[in-house]
Amino acid sequence: GLIIFRLMITLYHPEGQSCLLNQLQVEICRYPLGMTGGQIQDEDISASSQWSESTAARFGRLDFDNGDGDGAWCPNTMSEPQLSDGLKEYLQVDLRSLHFITLVGTQGRHADGMGKEFAQRYRINYSRDGNSWMGWHDRKGRQVIEGNRNAYDVVLKDLEPPIIARFVRFMPVTDHSMFVCMRVELYGCEWLDGLISYSIPDGQQMVYSGLSVFLNDSVYDGASAERSEMLTKGLGQLTDGTWGLDDFLHSNIYGMWPGYDYVGWSNESFHRGYVETIFQFDHVRNFTTMKVHCSNMFSRGVRMFRKVTCFFQSGSDYEGDPVTFRQADDDVNQAARFVTVPLGDRTASAIKCRFHFNDLWMLISEVAFQSGNYDPTHKVDDSNTRILIGCLVAIIAILLTIIVIILWRQVWQKMLEKASRRMLDDELTARLAVQTQAFSFIHSSLSSEGGSTSNSTYERIFPLCADYQEPSRLIRKLPEFAHTSCKAIAANISEGAPHYAEADIISLQESSDSYSITAVNMNLFSGSDSSMREFPREKLTFKEKLGEGQFGEVHLCEAENMLDFVDEDLSLAGIDESPLLVAVKTLREDANKNARNDFLKEIRIMSRLRDPNIVLLLAVCVDTDPLCMITEYMENGDLNQFLSPPNPQTKSGTEQRQISRYGKLISMAVQITSGMKYLSSLNFVHRDLATRNCLVGKNYTIKIADFGMSRNLYRGDYYRIQGRAVLPIRWMSWESILLGKFTTASDVWAFGVTLWEILTLCKEQPYCHLSDEQVIENTGEFFRDQGKQVYLPKPPRCPDAVYSDLMLSCWRRNAKQRPSFQEIQTQLLESSP
Ligand code: AMP
Repeated sequence: GLIIFRLMITLYHPEGQSCLLNQLQVEICRYPLGMTGGQIQDEDISASSQWSESTAARFGRLDFDNGDGDGAWCPNTMSEPQLSDGLKEYLQVDLRSLHFITLVGTQGRHADGMGKEFAQRYRINYSRDGNSWMGWHDRKGRQVIEGNRNAYDVVLKDLEPPIIARFVRFMPVTDHSMFVCMRVELYGCEWLDGLISYSIPDGQQMVYSGLSVFLNDSVYDGASAERSEMLTKGLGQLTDGTWGLDDFLHSNIYGMWPGYDYVGWSNESFHRGYVETIFQFDHVRNFTTMKVHCSNMFSRGVRMFRKVTCFFQSGSDYEGDPVTFRQADDDVNQAARFVTVPLGDRTASAIKCRFHFNDLWMLISEVAFQSGNYDPTHKVDDSNTRILIGCLVAIIAILLTIIVIILWRQVWQKMLEKASRRMLDDELTARLAVQTQAFSFIHSSLSSEGGSTSNSTYERIFPLCADYQEPSRLIRKLPEFAHTSCKAIAANISEGAPHYAEADIISLQESSDSYSITAVNMNLFSGSDSSMREFPREKLTFKEKLGEGQFGEVHLCEAENMLDFVDEDLSLAGIDESPLLVAVKTLREDANKNARNDFLKEIRIMSRLRDPNIVLLLAVCVDTDPLCMITEYMENGDLNQFLSPPNPQTKSGTEQRQISRYGKLISMAVQITSGMKYLSSLNFVHRDLATRNCLVGKNYTIKIADFGMSRNLYRGDYYRIQGRAVLPIRWMSWESILLGKFTTASDVWAFGVTLWEILTLCKEQPYCHLSDEQVIENTGEFFRDQGKQVYLPKPPRCPDAVYSDLMLSCWRRNAKQRPSFQEIQTQLLESSP
């Protein structure tokens, strides 16, 4: 039961299974290689001759009775008997690759009792390459193996030493008188070490205390050059799977001479101080380690090698950079051991190693190589390297994923922005729903002459041209205004900019979120214009031009007997003079159909609004052209003009000081919130809240006007812009600009800007230092919300709390987080002195 281990060999089970072991247990390397099982093909079994077709080589399978055959391989009995230098007849098995063969089995021809031929003795020849053949002999040099005694029993024979070969020949030892037939099996495992030969100086003889110790390689199967004492082209004790005991004088194998297990060399014989060995492999491999089993019996002058230097040959020559391994002396432990020499993953088909003496003698009993795999094209990595590479690949993959996600996010954001703008545009384009109302037109003689009120209400409105249909063109056009001063912009636009009225503005369904439709609102916007009475236009006396709006001019007129035409008691609203001063807004005569419809729509909207802070529509003149709406007159004009720095013609310095008191300003803002509260209670979205659209009456009364952009929430209408139009981008929330979404929350945003205007006394346009293009870009920043958005600065007279708690809250990205007008009003009142 001697268990012999062999290092780093991959076991191959001939029946298909393979297993990797660090150590090969020679004892378990005894698998049948396929004569019986059939893994060895018929064509791989040949013979020197056959007695008949039915006793051909392919029938020489142990324990295998083939119906076609006569039960075994039988050579031609007429052939010549045994020759002096070898045997004539043989049964040859080609294992197709190198195998480590530890056992053979033979059997005679039984053939169900019909046969009685068997081989009493036989010999084995083997070859690794099919050309040079070696005769097997046991450790004592005996070549003939005792075979069968009868035709049916299987006789197994351990091969000591084992064979490393691809081709094996069974050669019956015969004489004239005997018919011989054989069935055979080979046992072992695949030889994956890859070592096909080693060359070493033959071991020497040591004399120890008068005892001869033979340290030669006694089972070497290659050539032995007498003169140089070199062993070449063979394998032997260094690969026989047997390694020596600690005391080299004793052997693992019973009955062998002292030193049998080792191959040893004397330092004195090697003047260079080392023994050179060459290991030849079946193909190019990547070598991880070499394991060398050495004696370290220093008490007898034997030590492990001091260092070993290995040269690698993968082409024709050995490479220049060898691997050198040094090891420290072990003066304590005399045990024999395996020394592991790292070979640095070097590629080679041959390795030349120089083992340097460290004492008088150097004894080696086994050498094994770890190459990790036997695929010549595969680069062998040790596990650490593989793990490292795996980690690196994983890290790179993660980084790439992150980069892709970042890029994708940026592209996505840009696309979304573009898409949002396009969506707004498309929505506007797609949902056109022209609504016409039948009105009869009565020509009016209202003069448009006279009146010099400058029309600056829309000066600050960004002109949205026909190019709005294509946002990119819009952006290209913007720089025209980009570097002009605020006032210059105002001047430019007032002259050349289009008006709402000039655009074909059609109300369309608005897809705003989450507003409930109340009965009040349905009534308010869905019915015909009920209570508004037609006023005889001849009773209007023109006084002066107040301004110019989106639909046409606004005139101050005296209205005779107006109170008779108005259902309500206007005295409650402080309107009780006669003749009454009224503002008459007239639709210009050349207005197109859509402008006309919008004008009528504004009438319908205003006719239903009743609030102290909403400008009151008194009557209309719609039976004839030009269409007119008559509203209460607000003596101080629009809030923007009213707050602007002193104009000697309109107000004195004292007046201005009075106006600009913080309390006054806040009371104005509170009135606006009051009006907006009313509108929002009706779920009505103004869309164009700004100081220019608030009018100032007596005693700083503020009323919201200009419902030109306002549309019925319940019909959910969007504006459709055909031709030229304007949009107040500096007052608009990001979602109104990018998504075309108008809600009470976007009115809150506009209120924040309006409050800012009030507290800065309308000295400058919001974001005055940003071009229109930059304002649009800034809107994108609000959308991205990466902290790059620019807010309007805190006005000088604005308390911190009003700015940070109120104004900034109106500009929150999330519309739902913006305050309601009620909350704004409460906060403003609290801030008021
Ligand atoms: P609109 O067409 O409503 O934007 O009005 C144009 C301009 O006319 C306003 O900016 C005011 O200056 C003036 N205006 C409009 N309505 C009135 C009014 N009811 N009372 C006084 N001025 C008004």
